[in-house]
Amino acid sequence: RRRLLEEQWDLPAITADGVEIHLRANIELPDDSSLVRRMNADGVGLYRSEFLFMNRPDIPDEEEQYQAFSRVVTEMAGAPVTIRSLDIGADKGLSDDETTTHNALNPALGLRGLRLCLRRPEWFRPHLRAILRASALGPVRLMLPMLSSMSQLLQSRALVSELQAELRGEGLPCDPDMPLGIMVEVPAVAMAAHYFAGCADFFSIGTNDLIQYALAVDRGDDDVNDLFDPLHVGVLALIQHTIAAGRAKGIPVAMCGEMAANPAFTPLLLGLGLREFSMYPGAIPEVKEIIRQTSIAEAEQLAMGALAGEFSVALETGHS
Ligand code: PEP
Ligand code: MG
Repeated sequence: RRRLLEEQWDLPAITADGVEIHLRANIELPDDSSLVRRMNADGVGLYRSEFLFMNRPDIPDEEEQYQAFSRVVTEMAGAPVTIRSLDIGADKGLSDDETTTHNALNPALGLRGLRLCLRRPEWFRPHLRAILRASALGPVRLMLPMLSSMSQLLQSRALVSELQAELRGEGLPCDPDMPLGIMVEVPAVAMAAHYFAGCADFFSIGTNDLIQYALAVDRGDDDVNDLFDPLHVGVLALIQHTIAAGRAKGIPVAMCGEMAANPAFTPLLLGLGLREFSMYPGAIPEVKEIIRQTSIAEAEQLAMGALAGEFSVALETGHS
């Protein structure tokens, strides 16, 4: 079995009927990039930059962040690197900061991710400068987590433009056309995907949070684990709508939540229109194997059934 999967490493990710699929990797630290290369991934679809900030007493400065980002970009040798801006708060805490550990009643609904960054320009500006400087070394895409409003996207865009001008003024190179995309993690953003697609350069669906918020089920609470259902018709409808809206506007739509890494969901996601998957590197061979066995026509049949509740009913009643 292991040998069989190793054989997948070098095979192209195309469906049985010849549709090309992008398989990218989720990484947490620059050291992960060697595994990404070994798995032959099509670049990095989610670099969780907050790991640079966690488990330490201080905040890394611009230079340290630049070193980390530029290492990944260089090691990816021309393949795209999607750097997610700092996503701390709620389940991803800092060791020693009252901003993220204060006693919020609902931390998952509180000051986290992009909300926190926009509130702390003294963190966000050097962070974005480091990402922008790394964009001079290869194709970098910036991705905003936990976005819920258009105003957050416009503010972020304005800040990126301002920092690009600032860097130019200092003689530091950066990509003036770096794509700026958003994670679709908040149900209202998925429902309004057609509206956000007009201003974002790409979408990436974060199912871990999207499911949590759509079903009102804490992603880290074992007591309600059984209710965390990726096959819920409401969840699938949000995913389908996001993909369709992105496609209609001609922007790429990826998925980088755990759902994308589960080979049991691969045909269904293909049927919902997904063409870009991002997952922990070790999951790539198995997902690729399924992609190569699946045709889009049969996947679409499957997705239609799933949207009509076939899988949820089977789960709930114990029938298959
Ligand atoms: C997600 O929410 O699906 C996601 C990919 O982000 P994280 O798990 O880091 O919150
Ligand atoms: Mg998330």
